[in-house]
Amino acid sequence: PPMAHGGGPRQVKLDRESELRIEVGYDAPLKLRLLSGTAEIFGTELPPDFWLTFPPRLKFAVFTLNGATIEMEAVRKPSTRLMRYTPNISYVNVHAVLEERRHRAKPLPPDDPNSQGPRVIVVGPTDSGKSTLSKMLLSWAAKKGWKPTFVDLDIGQGAITIPGCIAATPIEMPIDPVEGIPLDIPLVYFYGHTTPSNNVDLYKVLVKELAQVVERQLSGNAESRASGMVINTMGWIEGQGYELLLHAIDTFNANVVLVLGQAPMTVRIFLLNSQEKLWSMIRNVLKNKPGVDVVKLQKSGGVVSRNAKFRQKSRSHRIREYFYGLANDLSPHSNIANFSDFSVFRIGGGPQAPRSALPIGAEPAADPTRLAPVNINRDLLHTVLAVSFAKEPDQIISRKTITYLAPSAGELPSKYLIAGTVTWLET
Ligand code: ADP
Repeated sequence: PPMAHGGGPRQVKLDRESELRIEVGYDAPLKLRLLSGTAEIFGTELPPDFWLTFPPRLKFAVFTLNGATIEMEAVRKPSTRLMRYTPNISYVNVHAVLEERRHRAKPLPPDDPNSQGPRVIVVGPTDSGKSTLSKMLLSWAAKKGWKPTFVDLDIGQGAITIPGCIAATPIEMPIDPVEGIPLDIPLVYFYGHTTPSNNVDLYKVLVKELAQVVERQLSGNAESRASGMVINTMGWIEGQGYELLLHAIDTFNANVVLVLGQAPMTVRIFLLNSQEKLWSMIRNVLKNKPGVDVVKLQKSGGVVSRNAKFRQKSRSHRIREYFYGLANDLSPHSNIANFSDFSVFRIGGGPQAPRSALPIGAEPAADPTRLAPVNINRDLLHTVLAVSFAKEPDQIISRKTITYLAPSAGELPSKYLIAGTVTWLET
């Protein structure tokens, strides 16, 4: 039940296997510490007797396996709910199975295909808790000393960097419940849109490219290979979204598919709910692939449902966080540059090559990675641009200037920028 009293310090006792779901007030942070017992936030253990500060509006849960007492303090009363039942125990069981496979993989020589630890892919509709489950599995593995690779294919939210990107990073320590994933090592590809339908083929090209680089990194590192991967996916599970899930499973050679679905209290009016349907479809497709497990898991009732507007807002927060840091601890730089200092491109845009430019008989195929130069004008206002690693010059010349926000002072690493449809307006 929600707590009755105001924002002053208060203690909460958690029984074993229960969780306290917390939503920090909208305009003031919340301080929390562990007084006794053991507890964790999405797989990361709370240090004993150490105050942690959570930013406004954050939604999270403190879970305990064996019982704990925590203390909270906030100017604005957080909204809290104490839950005696959570699906976390089933997630812990999945972790135990993955652990076994890692131990089995570790002593094997690199040329043995079984030296590859579990490659887990988490699928399900939006707001089923995919990112949260991914983080739990990664943090539990890291706590045991493994170095699993986190692959985030969800361009809608961007758990590693910003929306519009896919990324991969080794997880070497349990994920900080406030700071998230350290940004210094991830491998990031800029797709530029928050939905794959803008350029499905480009999305596939980037997923493939990311998989190849990850594969290369793992091949030279027995420890990382045995640790395996956790792959987070988009909430788009119908039609083309479903095809993209299969593409991801195939491209990363996933061998454990976790299908998240309905919360326990959902009334099952339909014979086949969406989780059931997705599970059986994937299982059918993969039945000829030995050694791939497709597992249904219950969604946590604590996962917050977000409508399109809320999602747009959290995207915007995420981009702000990228530039300013979660606690406003970063200082991005606003700069003025000449139009001529940069060349901006779009990927996959622009007209197709004329038939006359092709060999006789060849059909003009749309190349999803074709670059089209973009004129710098008002249309680019508030566009989030990626800096390309390209070194080749181009030809855009003009005397006009633009003001841009960069994560750090000094020159940008390149003058070639990539635009998509991701925009961000500082508020
Ligand atoms: P998805 O990746 O499927 O879109 P997320 O894992 O991002 O869903 O979860 C959505 C939101 O719900 C996140 O803000 C997350 O912190 C919150 N959340 C997830 N599980 C819980 C829980 N047990 N209690 C409270 N909040 C939760």
